[in-house]
Amino acid sequence: MRAEVIAIGDELTTGQRLDTNSQWISRELAVLGIETAFHTTTTDSLDDGVAVFRTAVERAEIVVVTGGLGPTADDLTRDVLAAVANEPLEVCPQALAAVEARFAKRAAPMPESNRRQAMFPRTSRVIPNPEGTAPGIDIEIPRRASGTSRVFALPGVPAEMKTMWAATVIPALVAGRPDAATIRFRRIKCFGAGESAIEAMLPDLIRRGRDPLVGITAHEATITLRIVARGADEAACLAKIAPTETLIRDALGDLVYGVEDDEIEDAALAAIARGGWTLATAEIATCGQIAALFAAAEARGHQAGLRWGLVLPESGAAAALLLAERVRQETGATHGLGVGPVRAIDGIESIEIGLVGPQGVQLVEHRLGGAGTVRMSRAAKTAIDLVRKTVQSGVSATP
Ligand code: AMP
Ligand code: MG
Repeated sequence: MRAEVIAIGDELTTGQRLDTNSQWISRELAVLGIETAFHTTTTDSLDDGVAVFRTAVERAEIVVVTGGLGPTADDLTRDVLAAVANEPLEVCPQALAAVEARFAKRAAPMPESNRRQAMFPRTSRVIPNPEGTAPGIDIEIPRRASGTSRVFALPGVPAEMKTMWAATVIPALVAGRPDAATIRFRRIKCFGAGESAIEAMLPDLIRRGRDPLVGITAHEATITLRIVARGADEAACLAKIAPTETLIRDALGDLVYGVEDDEIEDAALAAIARGGWTLATAEIATCGQIAALFAAAEARGHQAGLRWGLVLPESGAAAALLLAERVRQETGATHGLGVGPVRAIDGIESIEIGLVGPQGVQLVEHRLGGAGTVRMSRAAKTAIDLVRKTVQSGVSATP
């Protein structure tokens, strides 16, 4: 079974934006054992789109397309699919209700153009979009000679596309594969070492053809190891995953902080809550990023004692430990976390991270690396990881 991945948008063909969706989708298809044979990028024009799809359905059994599902006049993917399938576009009442509900939630009137997003080729299925207004389209398009090609059309916005991929496209692709009754994923989340260092610690695990397969990805210093198992049923998959997860955890120790969608701040807050501790932060160089990450984790439902998030001016050249101790005393929190200003010595930039609490006093010199926003977000996560490792290190739970 071979796939073609199509990216639609003038912003892509003119070079104003890089097509990252096709790269991501091809990697996902590979994990499912589906080879991507073609990447095609085309404009927002109806004629170009029709030509591309006529070719794609003849040479690929699976076609995944992103872009062109929005409400504006240049979003023509639904018209292209209707033309290639030779079917009319019809209003789907459920999809219309979903689009209307999103506008109602924001108490905004729905522009007439958004009605288009509820129009679907007659035989297609709707791919729900929980994060945006544009639903996706799942349709079988007949080939010239015989048989059909399965087309999945998703929005161009990467976050929406990825959510819909995981919720609807993966299950549909898996259901369509007679040779792999069940596929299960397990994601192990790590922090504190680079992608290649972690790969080196797992020498034989990240190898193509291994069963179960282990893949590695990095995002803003967080490393995700993904175990993919195929089996007759769920139990068979889980039985394959368990020993591999144990191997990973044994090899990486406390570099592993969580699983699935866990972020490093979720793990730190959970450790704080488990011990009945409370935390206060005082930041100079990270400008409140640590407090913001913790606040977002609390908003996701973590109950934890975050007492204070203080942001101090860059001019206040206080030592990290002094900040940590001061904010701890002023708030009565059990733990104080302090981040000092950026220091440059011989052109090497670093910051001090200090943590004071019942487990003692810790001072870490963090060398700033990476470009742009990643630099400080990595520093903020390093500070949060210091909290996680310290707090979960086993000192008696009641302060
Ligand atoms: P669209 O679904 O065509 O309205 O696309 C919405 C937005 O998603 C565009 O403005 C781009 O910023 C982004 N986008 C579209 N296609 C891609 C792609 N292939 N890779 C990355 N971003 C994309
Ligand atoms: Mg577009």
